[in-house]
Amino acid sequence: MKLANWLLTSKSTIVLTGAGMSTESNLPDFRSKEGWWRSIDPITVAAPEALDNNYELFTDFYTARLEALEGTAPHEGHQVIADWEERGFVDAVATQNVDGLHTAAGSKNVYELHGSLKNIYCHNCGAKAAPSDFKAKRKCGVCGGKLRPGVILFGEMLPQEAWNTALSRIKSASLIIVIGTSLEVYPANQLPLLASGRTVYLNAEVSSSGQDFDLVLEGKAKTIITEVQRIMHEAEGLV
Ligand code: NAD
Repeated sequence: MKLANWLLTSKSTIVLTGAGMSTESNLPDFRSKEGWWRSIDPITVAAPEALDNNYELFTDFYTARLEALEGTAPHEGHQVIADWEERGFVDAVATQNVDGLHTAAGSKNVYELHGSLKNIYCHNCGAKAAPSDFKAKRKCGVCGGKLRPGVILFGEMLPQEAWNTALSRIKSASLIIVIGTSLEVYPANQLPLLASGRTVYLNAEVSSSGQDFDLVLEGKAKTIITEVQRIMHEAEGLV
């Protein structure tokens, strides 16, 4: 398989993931048939306006997402990507996911472009708080402000350090593997277009979103990643 060969010979490889990377860990994505947004419009809730004007809906939505995270674990695909980093086949993971599953699987260089769900803080003074305080709709213990998860809401600035590092590494990498993203959310969807190396798109549904890539693999992340790992092991004489 082409991707296995490319990984084995690439000088530097960056993996870019989206919510489809985590659906096989039972975390719904946003835009496929079973996604979160089937019944709720993302713009109405994952936005500063909801935090300001509809805090009840905002907390209910993110409480549901925090609860969905409880008891989840990285799947084999996350583990293979961590293994690739450990063995020098992958340099870093840039992710739109806010679930922490790459780090939980053992990936070390992870750029969380959209922040982290479990990192609760006060929207007013920045003081940290526990997820349980947020779920109980408590006010900030320091200033009485509204608590929120450390995710980037639509219209908010991305974490500059994570973004800039991911961007420069993607620009100079010889291989970019994009996994499980609809490529609809700006500016993360621009990253593959800025790559100078080979680009691969692995997604369950591929439409016009795949046209700019050197290689398109349509299917489930876990299935394809573990198959690539098997072929690499064969090629390395590890089986
Ligand atoms: P998205 O929902 O827009 O797209 C997910 C894509 O993954 C879809 O095209 C879908 O066909 C594909 N997919 C679903 N299951 C797959 C699988 N098993 N294997 C391969 N592909 C699969 O998500 P996005 O592009 O990441 O962007 C939207 C926003 O979603 C981001 O801002 C992100 O923060 C947020 N989000 C994150 C999580 C999470 O952290 N797990 C969950 C939901 C949404």
